[in-house]
Amino acid sequence: MNKNKMIGFTCAYTPKAIIHAAGYTPYRILPIGNALDLAGHILHENLCSHIKRVLDRALQNDIPELAGLVFINSCDSMRRLADAWKKVRPDHKIVMLDLPAFKNELSISYFAEELLRLVNTLSEWSGDAVSLKSINNSVKLYNELESILDRLHVRMQSGMLKGGSEKFQTLCNLASTQPLQQTIKLLKTLVTEPEFETPAKDGVPVFLFGNVLPDPDAYSLFEKCGARIVDDDFCTGSRLFKPLQTGGPEEILKYMAKSLFLNTPCARTFDPLEPGKIARDIINRAKACSAKGVIAYTLKFCDPYLDRLPMVRSILQDASIPFLMLEGDCTQGSIGQQQTRIEAFIEMLR
Ligand code: SF4
Repeated sequence: MNKNKMIGFTCAYTPKAIIHAAGYTPYRILPIGNALDLAGHILHENLCSHIKRVLDRALQNDIPELAGLVFINSCDSMRRLADAWKKVRPDHKIVMLDLPAFKNELSISYFAEELLRLVNTLSEWSGDAVSLKSINNSVKLYNELESILDRLHVRMQSGMLKGGSEKFQTLCNLASTQPLQQTIKLLKTLVTEPEFETPAKDGVPVFLFGNVLPDPDAYSLFEKCGARIVDDDFCTGSRLFKPLQTGGPEEILKYMAKSLFLNTPCARTFDPLEPGKIARDIINRAKACSAKGVIAYTLKFCDPYLDRLPMVRSILQDASIPFLMLEGDCTQGSIGQQQTRIEAFIEMLR
């Protein structure tokens, strides 16, 4: 068994439960840390900083020992990352799963086939056949993790979580890099800790969304600007832990494909029958958490989000919901430079 071995991943659509069922620890290679900006030597500059910072960490060995990597073919940038990874880390085994762009039954069946391909690949890598029964058990464990994180997220939303959104992001980073059972044990102690006597109510309630924002300090910077993050949606945050449908082991891959595909989607997943859905989801989330405004933080050169944001902006305008769009490069600095704009936006919402 490979209990201590880790399998690297970089996308919220990654089936972590299958990696866990194969006896590995899923390790999200987050675009954080102090690795130097070297990826530009290999990758074109106009690719998103998510993948460049992840590659920076590989180039400078700022990642733990990995038994292999699971990439998701989520967008062109992610494909470029997988190609470059083969060059800079030829010692790593790599598998890339195809992820359909459109949400429909055909896509779900196709993705279920891709999950089966991953099961067979990890069985080969580990030398142990991965059973559907063990995947079913891992799904139950991940759902346990998800429900605890969800309770902590609700506490964060109501201003009752010590450390607020910064703390919640720290917990998400931990849950995406550390062994599952160990993380569940730690979070269980946290969730039993007494809540705040009085909820933190200072700051203007905002809904924050985007693609990648793993740096906990970034959340405290928004709060230093007078915002109170009452809900958020990032692929490095709460979107990474969504409940997975369960059922008999025979159907588990179909259920998992459906859950992963239909849960809170990233902008790269599009429903041709409902082109404006991402914007309506944002409005519904903003209203549900009584946000006074919506802030988008997206990475430069992230085509999927840059494609959708103009529509999001116009639908929010029609709904008279104030909207601020920020572009960054995953670093604290890129938000710091926009502090004045954030403060002005928050001031306007008061
Ligand atoms: S979806 Fe956007 S942020 Fe994510 S890897 Fe692709 S380009 Fe980068």
